[in-house]
Amino acid sequence: AAKARGSGLIEVFDDDASHRSLDLLDLRFELAFALERRQLKVQYQPICDLATGELLGFEALARWHHPLRGNVPPGVFIPLAEESGAILEIGAWVLDQACAQLARWQQLPGGAGLRMNVNISPAQLDDRRRAQQLLGTIATYGVDPSDVCLEVTEYNYVRAAATESANELRAAGVRFALDDFGTSYASMSRLKLFPIGTIKIDRGFVAGMVTDAVDRSVVVGVLAIGESLRLSVVAEGVETVQQQQALLGLGCRQAQGYLFAPPLDPDGAEQAVLRGRCGAGVANPVGG
Ligand code: C2E
Ligand code: MG
Ligand code: MG
Ligand code: MG
Repeated sequence: AAKARGSGLIEVFDDDASHRSLDLLDLRFELAFALERRQLKVQYQPICDLATGELLGFEALARWHHPLRGNVPPGVFIPLAEESGAILEIGAWVLDQACAQLARWQQLPGGAGLRMNVNISPAQLDDRRRAQQLLGTIATYGVDPSDVCLEVTEYNYVRAAATESANELRAAGVRFALDDFGTSYASMSRLKLFPIGTIKIDRGFVAGMVTDAVDRSVVVGVLAIGESLRLSVVAEGVETVQQQQALLGLGCRQAQGYLFAPPLDPDGAEQAVLRGRCGAGVANPVGG
């Protein structure tokens, strides 16, 4: 409406929605300095064996602590970073941190087989030379590329160059997971185009599967696709023993979620490595 009246600059100050977009403009500006101001950090959420709680690896998740606004959720700042291009630097930094930690944790007793999942944005693969630099980061820490899994989300439009980059990285050993599977109609085409080895069931379906027949059917379907294409399937957002048991009953083997452990600071993650288990609470509750 502001635009229609041709006075956007003034309207901005008496319109709630515009307040929000002004806010986002500020945020986007500040995000450009967040890295150098050391406001970003990485947390690590355990990925575990759904039946036993054994620790299999971690997913690295970016965190932004703003000095005045507190924690800005990645659901807010990642899209902003993607728009502004800051995601290239931020994403490269997250991978660097994650590889440094993985190299260190793999040296600990019981840490040998651990894997690290890192979320990447499409722009990080759009340029093949930049994508190759991801391999350089992995090599810097002496990490085996096949212990690194890059999580891509479902976008409707993916440039051909990104698919080529992904295939090159895959040829070097790097694995790919399709994140939030089932939330977009692009899921299936992405499966065909990308060298995907793992699909992650979106936590929305996991949340509903115990009570909602449609959610449950989606979970059944995703597991069937995983089985027939020989993909690993990880359930995201497992919060209750009921969900855990339902998933086990359907043949799901791997999971992440608050039932096992939330995203942890590096110290907490290191404790999980030393225990070899996700979280303290769940010690084989279903006898699997
Ligand atoms: P995602 O990759 O699907 O990550 C899983 C999200 O689920 C995380 O949210 C995690 O904290 C949350 N989660 C895990 N277990 C549970 C649970 O049991 N219950 C509930 N309710 N939530 C759970 P988070 O950390 O807020 O991240 C949101 C999204 O931001 C991520 O979704 C990912 O798409 C994106 N993201 C985070 N870090 C990065 C990054 O470094 N690069 C890129 N490109 N994206 C990132
Ligand atoms: Mg992810
Ligand atoms: Mg996800
Ligand atoms: Mg998600």
